[in-house]
Amino acid sequence: MLIQNATLDWIDNSPKSTEFDDIYFNTVDGVEEARYVFVEGNNINARLADNSPLVIAETGFGTGLNFLNTVHRFIQHKNTKTKLHFISAEKYPLTKRDLQRTYANWPQFNVFTEQLLAQYPIHTTGFHRITFFNGEIQLTLMLGDATDCFSKLNARVDAWYLDGFSPSRNPDMWTSALFEKIALLSTPHSTTLATFTSASKIRKSLQAVGFDIKKRPGFGLKREIIAGTFIKSTAPVIEAKPWFSLPKSARPTHVTIIGGGLSGCSTAYSLAQRGIKVTIIEKEKRLATAGSGNRQGALYAKLPVTPTKQGELHLTGFLHTINLLKQTDPTQSFWSQCGVAQLATKENEKIRQQELIDNQHYPTSLVQQKSAAELSAISGTAVSSSGLFFPDAGWVSPVDFCHALANHPNINIVQHDIKLIEHTDQQWTLTNNSSERLHCSHLVICNAELASQFEQTKHLPLKAIRGQVSLTADNADLPKLDTVVCGEGYISPAQEGIFCFGATFDLKGKQRDVTQHDHDKNLTKLADALPEFHHALLKQKAQLSGRTAFRCSTPDYMPVVGPAPVFSDYIDTYARLRKDKNWRFEGATAQHYPNLYVNSGHGSKGLITCPISAELLASMICNEPLPLPKTLIDSVNPARFIIKNLIKRAI
Ligand code: SAM
Repeated sequence: MLIQNATLDWIDNSPKSTEFDDIYFNTVDGVEEARYVFVEGNNINARLADNSPLVIAETGFGTGLNFLNTVHRFIQHKNTKTKLHFISAEKYPLTKRDLQRTYANWPQFNVFTEQLLAQYPIHTTGFHRITFFNGEIQLTLMLGDATDCFSKLNARVDAWYLDGFSPSRNPDMWTSALFEKIALLSTPHSTTLATFTSASKIRKSLQAVGFDIKKRPGFGLKREIIAGTFIKSTAPVIEAKPWFSLPKSARPTHVTIIGGGLSGCSTAYSLAQRGIKVTIIEKEKRLATAGSGNRQGALYAKLPVTPTKQGELHLTGFLHTINLLKQTDPTQSFWSQCGVAQLATKENEKIRQQELIDNQHYPTSLVQQKSAAELSAISGTAVSSSGLFFPDAGWVSPVDFCHALANHPNINIVQHDIKLIEHTDQQWTLTNNSSERLHCSHLVICNAELASQFEQTKHLPLKAIRGQVSLTADNADLPKLDTVVCGEGYISPAQEGIFCFGATFDLKGKQRDVTQHDHDKNLTKLADALPEFHHALLKQKAQLSGRTAFRCSTPDYMPVVGPAPVFSDYIDTYARLRKDKNWRFEGATAQHYPNLYVNSGHGSKGLITCPISAELLASMICNEPLPLPKTLIDSVNPARFIIKNLIKRAI
């Protein structure tokens, strides 16, 4: 759903919510009061001196003052190994402009607010992960209703900041339903909470879910406030889908990755950023020679008319990749945020796009409807029809992106063609095609459909789909092109003097050679969208070169990301699903292979799904808060095909 921004009045440049008729922070001494109530109330300074990462969660991000106060303390008090994870739910985010106006009050936070504003997400429902100081601090900003967001969060929280306007003005942020979610994410005798209220109703509700609540003196004129420690576990919750439960993992010091494409390189980067040494094993001499080896790929998310899990993953991934590209290549040397025009060349696409706009699920900062004339002006060439325009989208060179990600002091790249993996004596032994052996504790399989050559992952339904792109040198006869244009196919602005367009989608093709037949298909796809361009390209048809690659896809077109299930144990444990798909399983869940993970099946969407999947996997491996809602994590779980097939009685 479309997110509503906060509507504000201003008192001395401090925001006040018109919707809730309440202030975000005290106009006098707001920074100090927030620090006293939340940071001191949870004893954060002392806890930052500890070696382990600290996970803080907040109800109501607002201006981010609590986040900024915490980051400020973190920088002053942290032990060198401490990491900070700050998670916050916000239903009515402030606009960037309103944040800027607020931050003018706090020059002491400039170094943090600049980074926050640079990465502040487009306001779409869901989780947005932002990293600061090379990953030392992570902010997971969940846009949506707090109860819904926290019910989808997979994390262990160490300290809670309850800051959702006063209970009398905003009871939704103080419900038993929300407190039950908070209790589920808390650890007995360790998790604390602090808040500015001392209302007896709130005290009692928090006690009812297992918190020991104490009164503290309030700040300034305020008499008292409360803080607490979680003391008793709530009744264990029976997981609705136990087959998707994730094994616990202890943070490793080294991880090995098989496969040096976008999936492998982004996984390596996410782990390396966490201080973990990584070895990428690639069978070719260079990185990114297979599915990630095209010159250019369009960077955009094709949005569904009504939200779907796939649409949510693509949108979250798209925004995540943009932030990552901004960090790894701030000057846009191998990518360009030139915008993408998605034309409605066919009647059914026109209807679909109109519905998408009418439904108003997406903000105009993300996608706008434009006429053919407007799109022609934006793209610099004549386009045939109206369509959608994505101003933040563009193109990326996947090969260069892979190299940039892998160019990290913690990443080492070696060349081996691994044929066999075995788990013996508490480690993985990898055997290459010359019968040499390598050993590692943690292994991630990122070699696309070649995962099927390993006994442990051969059950995954990964399929290679052939695609050919066509290339031609830019010259005076070709019209200029300023944005990526997609219709039936796509074409990007020339990179280093070469235009790249395509691509074919051939479910059965096995041929590695570039064919004229496929060049013709790519040209035909352009004909409807860019008639002028098509006409000019036809004249130089004989000079076209190209590239074929195989995209690794799955039956549901979602990637495969997570721990590797033991196929036979899954079948045995959940066999009753064949008879009763609504069966509620209780007991020990089926096994996964120890420390074996998969990141694969990204199809033609790798630019937007690999980096967020990498972040998900690295967070899982390091036992950190996960960057995606549970619903999405389940939808990419490698075990989903086994469960679907059991229910369908196909296995
Ligand atoms: N912690 C904030 C700060 O540092 O600026 C102040 C938070 S302000 C007191 C309360 C916040 O809760 C507002 O930003 C408001 O939009 C948000 N909010 C209100 N109802 C909500 C709900 N149901 N779910 C999530 N956020 C909500």
